[in-house]
Amino acid sequence: MENLRMEEVLKKYFGYSSFRPSQKDIILQILRGRDSLVVMATGSGKSLCYQIPPLISGKTAVVISPLLSLMQDQVMSLKQRGIKAEYVGSTQMDQTVISSAECGHFNILYMTPEKATSVSSKFWSNLQKVGISLLAVDEAHCISEWGHDFRREYKQLHNLRGFLINIPFVGLTATATEKVRRDIIQSLKMKDPYVAIGSFDRPNLFYGVKHFDRGDSFVEELVREITKHVANAGSTIIYCTTVKDTEQIFESLRAAGVQAGIYHGQMTAKARQDSHRSFIRDELLVMVATVAFGMGIDKPNIRCVIHYGCPKSLESYYQESGRCGRDGISSVCWLYFTRSDFAKGHFYLEESQSKTHREAVMQSLMAAQRYCSLATCRRKSLLEYFGEQVSFTNCGNCDTCTSSNKARERDMSEEAFLLLTCIQSCGSRWGLNMPIDVLRGSRSRKILDKNYDKLQLYGLGKKHSSNWWKALGDQLIVHGYLVENVSDIYRTVRVSSSGLEFLRASSTAYHPPLLLIVTSEMAD
Ligand code: ADP
Ligand code: ZN
Repeated sequence: MENLRMEEVLKKYFGYSSFRPSQKDIILQILRGRDSLVVMATGSGKSLCYQIPPLISGKTAVVISPLLSLMQDQVMSLKQRGIKAEYVGSTQMDQTVISSAECGHFNILYMTPEKATSVSSKFWSNLQKVGISLLAVDEAHCISEWGHDFRREYKQLHNLRGFLINIPFVGLTATATEKVRRDIIQSLKMKDPYVAIGSFDRPNLFYGVKHFDRGDSFVEELVREITKHVANAGSTIIYCTTVKDTEQIFESLRAAGVQAGIYHGQMTAKARQDSHRSFIRDELLVMVATVAFGMGIDKPNIRCVIHYGCPKSLESYYQESGRCGRDGISSVCWLYFTRSDFAKGHFYLEESQSKTHREAVMQSLMAAQRYCSLATCRRKSLLEYFGEQVSFTNCGNCDTCTSSNKARERDMSEEAFLLLTCIQSCGSRWGLNMPIDVLRGSRSRKILDKNYDKLQLYGLGKKHSSNWWKALGDQLIVHGYLVENVSDIYRTVRVSSSGLEFLRASSTAYHPPLLLIVTSEMAD
C-alpha cells in the first residue's frame, strides 16, 4: 500500500517512474518513524528521501540547511512542481511564513540552523499539533568537529528533540568518515537509526596529482595545461587556496585569451552572482575560485576540476573535485600541490577552537598530504578513507594506475637507510626537516650548535634536493617505516618497529631491496 502511494507520488510530482533502490528503503524507514542517517554521494538523490514522506503523510517536513541560496533554489524548484514549500532564514517575510507554517500550510519548510534553534518553542508545539513528518538535517557533517565544515549552531540542533516528540530525525551528507557518522548519530541523539551508506566511487572521474614549485614559470605551465583542458573538455573550475592566487591565475588566463571568470569571498555579492551565473550558462568556460565557490553548484557538465594548492582535507577535496562529471561523462580532477601547502595547519585554525578541533584539523591536513604522496591507487585510498571496502588495487583511472608503476619503481634501500639512521642519530625528536638538512650538509646554526655536523652521516645526502628527501620521508611514513606524531605541531618523526627491522636487516650481509615509486617530486 505504502509502496504504491510512494510510486504515485514520485510520478506525480517529480515525473520519475521508479525509485533508486536505496531511496525506497530510506523513505520506508522514515515513514515508519525511524531516525535515519543517509550518507550518499552528491547526485545520488538524497533530497527525495525527505521530500517524498511529507507528500505521502500530508504532514510538514522541516529541513535544516546551512545556506540560504541552496534553500532558495530548492524551494523554487519544489514550487514549480506544485509542492508547497517555503524557507525561513533572516528575511522580513519570516513572520508570515512562520504563521502559515504553524497552520500546517507547507509540505516542506526549510530553515537555517540559527532560525531553527532560536524560534520560539510555541512554534514547534503548534507545528507538532498540525503534524510534522520529519526533521531533516542536510549537510549533517557540519555537526561534527571531525567534519570539514563544523558549524556551532548545528551542534545545538539536538535541543529540538525536546519539542519534537517521536518525530524521526534524518541526517544527510555526501561526505562522512566513520568518526563523523558516529558524531552525527550521537549529537542528534538518534535512537537505533537506519544507516544508509552508498558507494563514494565516482568511476567516471580521473584523479591525478602533480607536484609544483611556486613561481612564474609554474603559472605559465598551469595556464598552458588549462588552455589544453578547456579546448578538449569544456567547463573547468580551478580552486585556489588564497584570494591572491585566484587573482593571479585569473589574470594570467585572461592574458592568454581564455574566457575565465573569478569568484571569491572578497567580491561583492552582486559580482559573485554574476560570475556564478555566467559560468552556469557556459558564457565562461573557466572559473577561478576559492572554496567560497561551493555548495549549490548544480552544473552537470563540468569536465575538469583543478586544485592549485592542496585542500585542507580529503573531505573537501572529494566534495570539490566531485563537482565535475555529474552527468556521468568522463571528467578529470587534477591536484597540484607544493610542499608549503602542508605547513598551513595553523592557518585553518581559529583561536577559540577546542583541542579536539585543532587535532582534527591537523589530521585532516595530514590525510590530504598522504593522498598527494601516494604511489598507489588514488581512488582506492580516497574510498578507504571514507570507510569503504575496496577489492581492487588498480582502478585504471587515476594517475598512478595509468602510468606504469613498475617502470617508475626503484630500489631506494640505500637512501631509506640513510634517512632512517639519521633520524635516529638526531635523537628522534625532530620533524623531517632537521635530519634532511643534516644529510644535505647544511651549516645552519642549529646543526652546528647540536654538533650534528660531526655525525658520520652528515652531508651524505647532498645528491638529492630537500624536496626529494621529504617525498621519500612521506613514502616511508605511508609504508610504515616511520611514525609521525600527529598531535605535535612540529610533526616529529621516529623510526617504527618495521623501520628498525629494516635497519637491522640492512646491516647484515643481505641487503633487502626497498622498492619505492619515483614520484613526481623525486624526478630529479
Ligand atoms: P543529492 O542531494 O544526493 O546530491 P539530488 O537529490 O539533488 O542528489 O538528486 C540528484 C539528481 O538525481 C536530481 O536531478 C534528481 O532529480 C535526480 N533523481 C533523484 N531521484 C531520482 C529517481 N528516482 N529517478 C530519476 N532521477 C532521480
Ligand atoms: Zn587508481
